[in-house]
Amino acid sequence: MVTSVSADPTPATAPESGPRKQACDGADAGPCLGPVSGLDLSPVLAALLAHHPDVRPDELERVMTAFDIADVAHAPQRRATGEPYMVHPLAVAAEVADLGMDADTVAAALCHDVVEDTPVTVEALADAIGPVAARLVDGVTKLDEVADASKSARVAGSLRKLLVAATTDVRVLVIKLADRLHNMRTVGALPPQKQVRVATETLEVYAPLAHRLGMSETKAALEDAAFLVLEPDKAHEIAALIAQAAPSSMARLDRAIAEANAALATAGLNAHVTGRQKTVYSAYRKMQVRQVPFADIADLIGLRVIVDTPAECYAALGVLHAVFTPVPARFRDYIALPKWGQYRSLHTTVIDRDGVTFEAQVRTWQMHAQAEFGVAAHWKYKANAVGAPGPGHPPMVGDLPWLADLLAAGAAEADPDEFLNALRRDLGAGEIVTLTPRGDVVPLPAGATALDFAYRVHTEVGHSAVAVRVNGRLRTVGVTLVAGDRVEVITDTGQGGLPGPRTEWLDLVTTARAAHAIRARLALRHREDALEHGWAEIARAVERDVPEGSELNEALAVVAGTFGYVDADALAMAVGEGHVPTSRVAARLRNQESSEPGEQPGEQLGDEHVVAPDAPVKEGPLLAVRVEALDRRGLLAGVCDVVTGAGGDVLEVHAAAGQDRVARVGLVVAAADSSHAARIRVALAQVEGVFSVCDAHP
Ligand code: MN
Repeated sequence: MVTSVSADPTPATAPESGPRKQACDGADAGPCLGPVSGLDLSPVLAALLAHHPDVRPDELERVMTAFDIADVAHAPQRRATGEPYMVHPLAVAAEVADLGMDADTVAAALCHDVVEDTPVTVEALADAIGPVAARLVDGVTKLDEVADASKSARVAGSLRKLLVAATTDVRVLVIKLADRLHNMRTVGALPPQKQVRVATETLEVYAPLAHRLGMSETKAALEDAAFLVLEPDKAHEIAALIAQAAPSSMARLDRAIAEANAALATAGLNAHVTGRQKTVYSAYRKMQVRQVPFADIADLIGLRVIVDTPAECYAALGVLHAVFTPVPARFRDYIALPKWGQYRSLHTTVIDRDGVTFEAQVRTWQMHAQAEFGVAAHWKYKANAVGAPGPGHPPMVGDLPWLADLLAAGAAEADPDEFLNALRRDLGAGEIVTLTPRGDVVPLPAGATALDFAYRVHTEVGHSAVAVRVNGRLRTVGVTLVAGDRVEVITDTGQGGLPGPRTEWLDLVTTARAAHAIRARLALRHREDALEHGWAEIARAVERDVPEGSELNEALAVVAGTFGYVDADALAMAVGEGHVPTSRVAARLRNQESSEPGEQPGEQLGDEHVVAPDAPVKEGPLLAVRVEALDRRGLLAGVCDVVTGAGGDVLEVHAAAGQDRVARVGLVVAAADSSHAARIRVALAQVEGVFSVCDAHP
């Protein structure tokens, strides 16, 4: 993080709104200065008003309150650059306001480092700037540094928390990306080693996140800033080459724009034609990926044609192909087959009369908004109907299936290094587009198999897949797909055969979603088997039949309590999995019959400390973990249920919720063996809100 706290020990607190307030009330009435820093908020207010002319006075008021709070709270701090700290949150707020985000997001951006770096709490913020903005701040706030946690554990935990928060409100990620962008632009003030670490993380995690969110301007800015740190020589050289090429290529581009404009007008199309220039990093990537010299990059300059409707896109493409010569096999239809479900445009490469090659993109105004600003387009164009209406509802998790996939991938990895690797791998994979027999688009990461496809279509389709037809030919489910494959999944619901996931299937899939579904089904089947087996064992031990065993059921329910299990089934499962010896259960059942009313069941000592009084025999290892989760009602019960459901015995629970809204639950669990312990960890990581499961040393 780019902060350095000065020696001034004055504690900062949330201020009452000061007398300066009145001076700012008309947002267009001159400067709006911070009470301590003297920095001016009015450009941010102007950008907010430009995108949202209908912003309410109380919303503006909250933005100004947020500015005051942050300005006072950060007063003792300076950035590594030596500037007042407030320069940073103000720049982040300006960035999100320019992206067209709403008042809550701008207010949250102003306060985004307040909870992390000053004594102001989320609760105090909620009172001052509203619950929505406070929740956004909470989402971008890093986890408290835990003394014994490794660096990667902290990074992984904070990233996981950020992604969990983004599933409820994607604005959290917009703020985080703007934050990272300003930090990258001022990274020069940090020691060289730290610069490299921050730039690497930006290139591996944050730029791909911006890409997935469709925020291509932000992505390009992040990439260029990181590239400049990591490969300064190459970055300067390519920038110089682009500048050199610009004058001549720009003259050609101007002529191409004029020709395209004339032809499109003749065809009766109302089109807006502009030129565009490639960014430094994207030029470099193209040289690397295509293994071509700089001179051969065809789309260093390009045409962009914006029209009103999708049908006009294809009409405009026809006009371009009539005026210029299209390069065969360079046409891409991302309207019919969108990238990441977000980016839509027609791409073609054409040659003009002088033999100069350039790329042309054709899109509607709405596609343009989506392409430049991605998820931010919703807020940018919500209030402003000019030209480009944004999508009608804020982007939800359903619109961003990759986000849920990332979290599923992360949840399955208890080890923080593995989590970060899974994240980089998932974010780094290219995308291929495949098709259902009906022609519906199914986007998948490059390298995905037919089984990944089946699970992407529907979990049950995956579970019952037995074979596939790829482009009409019968193949096994493990076949690797390539872009454009049309895949039909052949399913068997299992009347005759033995369908459903097997452990080997985990080797046949590459997506986290599929692996997650397979593991969940295998665990469920394991539990069903264990339950059946456990009941049979107990019945045999007490020489009774289960079908007539309703009294056995009642007796076992009481005995279950003495072992610390919630009910008869939970105890039966523990027997089935070998955690509790059948003989002990049988002995207690006999005891209980001779000495009614039996022993007391496990006692609840309230949320703070729960101990199962008569813990079962510990044959396997003890699992001691610390679970961190966004605090919510029922969290502790959920955590305990999951352990019991996975056949583990909870021996000890400690829980505390901090002011940062993070609940920390310490658990000691008896498991049968290390693989059972690993399963319990995976199950814990999947509890709603949990973002970290790490070892605790009892
Ligand atoms: Mn920051």
